[in-house]
Amino acid sequence: MIEVQQLNKSFGSLHVLKDVDLTVHESDVVCLIGASGSGKSTLLRCLNFLEMKDSGKILINGEEIDERSHNLNQVRQKVGMVFQHFHLFPHKTVLENVIEAPIYVKKVPKEKAIKKGRALLKKVGLSDKEEVYPAKLSGGQKQRVAIARSLAMKPEVMLFDEPTSALDPELVGEVLSTMKELAKEGMTMILVTHEMGFAREVADKIVYMHEGKIVEIGTPEEIFEQPKQQRTKDFLNSVL
Ligand code: ATP
Ligand code: MG
Repeated sequence: MIEVQQLNKSFGSLHVLKDVDLTVHESDVVCLIGASGSGKSTLLRCLNFLEMKDSGKILINGEEIDERSHNLNQVRQKVGMVFQHFHLFPHKTVLENVIEAPIYVKKVPKEKAIKKGRALLKKVGLSDKEEVYPAKLSGGQKQRVAIARSLAMKPEVMLFDEPTSALDPELVGEVLSTMKELAKEGMTMILVTHEMGFAREVADKIVYMHEGKIVEIGTPEEIFEQPKQQRTKDFLNSVL
């Protein structure tokens, strides 16, 4: 589904991603973990072409995406992204936020977009907030709107960059359970998270990054119970 081969990315003289190889299969849930600055966000952003790689290959469904010849807006429709901060349109209602891109980018007829938008809001538990403006929502509700808005584009894979890090602790659970639901439905997901409990329970694969390199990839049992690399052990000891 997604294949990353020998990906390299630098910002000036700072080499941030170093020969990253990663394969994500359909319906996989992959959690990226690692210390601050290890390159997790940069890797996600390269997968969504918010950052352009310097070298290496990114294949989506077997097709190599070359940023010079592909329409990146079309590619981004296949790869949804949810950020730590929700980036909702403040002057639009919850429902308007969700239907904006399908109508204006995908040219979905308004009635159809509304129907789908309502179904998605129901799915994330926000049916009663359709007509509300983002300022009136809690952080957890905003993040669930952001997830619904991303899903409205019918992405093939969803990227989440610390979707719960900006939330008050009591609001983390509702967002994680929305994500768990998505995982159960078979959505392919790549996420950066500090929620090790969630990673352990929901991930098919854990990817540990250190200084721009993937140090170790394994199932949650392999990574959490018997990490092979000393660096992975040290990292887990520092966060668990
Ligand atoms: P965190 O857990 O703190 O979010 P991260 O693993 O997501 O960290 P990245 O955001 O990918 O780390 O950053 C990796 C390195 O690249 C850091 O040293 C960061 O300062 C640098 N970096 C990221 N984006 C840019 C940019 N646009 N310009 C210059 N340097 C950048
Ligand atoms: Mg980050």
